[in-house]
Amino acid sequence: MAKIWVFAEVNNGKVDTAALEILTKARELGGEVEAVALGPGSTDAAKELGQYGATTVYASDDEVYADYVAQPAAHALHELVKEHAPELILFATNYDSRDIAGRLSARTGSTLMSNCFDILGTDKARTTIFGGATVVDVALEGTPKIALVRPKSFEPEASGGEANVMPVEVDIPDDLKKAKRVERHEEQASGPKLEEAPIVISGGRGLQDASNFELLDQLAGAIGNAAVGATRAVVDAGWVPYAYQIGQTGTTVKPGVYIAFGISGATQHIVGMKGAKTIIAVNKDEDAPIFQIADLGIVGDALKILPQLIEEIKTRKG
Ligand SMILES: Cc1cc2nc3c(=O)[nH]c(=O)nc-3n(C[C@H](O)[C@H](O)[C@H](O)COP(=O)(O)OP(=O)(O)OC[C@H]3O[C@@H](n4cnc5c(N)ncnc54)[C@H](O)[C@@H]3O)c2cc1C
Repeated sequence: MAKIWVFAEVNNGKVDTAALEILTKARELGGEVEAVALGPGSTDAAKELGQYGATTVYASDDEVYADYVAQPAAHALHELVKEHAPELILFATNYDSRDIAGRLSARTGSTLMSNCFDILGTDKARTTIFGGATVVDVALEGTPKIALVRPKSFEPEASGGEANVMPVEVDIPDDLKKAKRVERHEEQASGPKLEEAPIVISGGRGLQDASNFELLDQLAGAIGNAAVGATRAVVDAGWVPYAYQIGQTGTTVKPGVYIAFGISGATQHIVGMKGAKTIIAVNKDEDAPIFQIADLGIVGDALKILPQLIEEIKTRKG
């Protein structure tokens, strides 16, 4: 039976949700599913990873994996790969995992398929090309096969299992302790996290000026339980931080409701939000591509509609 590994990021003792999504998918593939978790809190995290289908969790709580960027984890993984020979290793498309997967691929010589949104078997993955416009199935090659999977590609579902914990004891050479993490900065947000929010309110270049993002904050506050996102155009313009960016090179969201203000609907943006249950778009151009995927389209000036919407919601909520 093919051995499928999931690399699980554990941050501040919490398992990254994307690891649970990928474990759920890995179970479907029918192999022997195992997980690797490196850094403080990993041994405790094994319980949850077991509940989502990992039969074994290779775990180390060593601070070295949190203190130094990617190199120690890639080294430890490579040592584990040599010992246990997994067929396929799945990573989430997150900052650290991307870095580690790339370094592992350089060491093993396997091809690394990035940005996958489905895994069709132990040797086949599905991704998009041409800026998200065309879906392609790709054959994975090498031993082990390595793929980076976009968060939110699968619904996480617990299977109720229990994992054996295998302690990872790999010596990390000093020359792999070079890129030290000196500070961690968490973006402050008053509402829910963008990727977890049930309602996402997003703004694009049509908002005209950075100061108008304040209107989106006010709307999110009036609705409640909503997060604010943005297009790359406005992130690149420096209106909002990168953490707001939704799309191919940003965060993927799958909220119940997605409201887009002044967003044209470029494929690179759509790929990050098209999984929303209901899409509402406000754009003054009736031919804007966003209307092609919107459940409700409003042709109008976002800067006139937003203040009225905020007032209306406040009045109705009393
Ligand atoms: C490799 C690559 C990766 C990319 N990754 C991403 C990504 O992750 N996320 C992303 O978002 N983009 C990404 N992009 C950029 C993407 O192609 C678009 O350029 C971007 O999404 C456009 O942002 P926008 O809709 O805010 O701006 P625009 O395309 O300029 O659209 C602005 C819209 O606002 C409307 N408008 C103007 N004034 C008003 C008003 N007063 N009221 C209402 N509507 C108004 C206009 O009609 C227009 O439709 C990527 C591009 C490349 C090449």
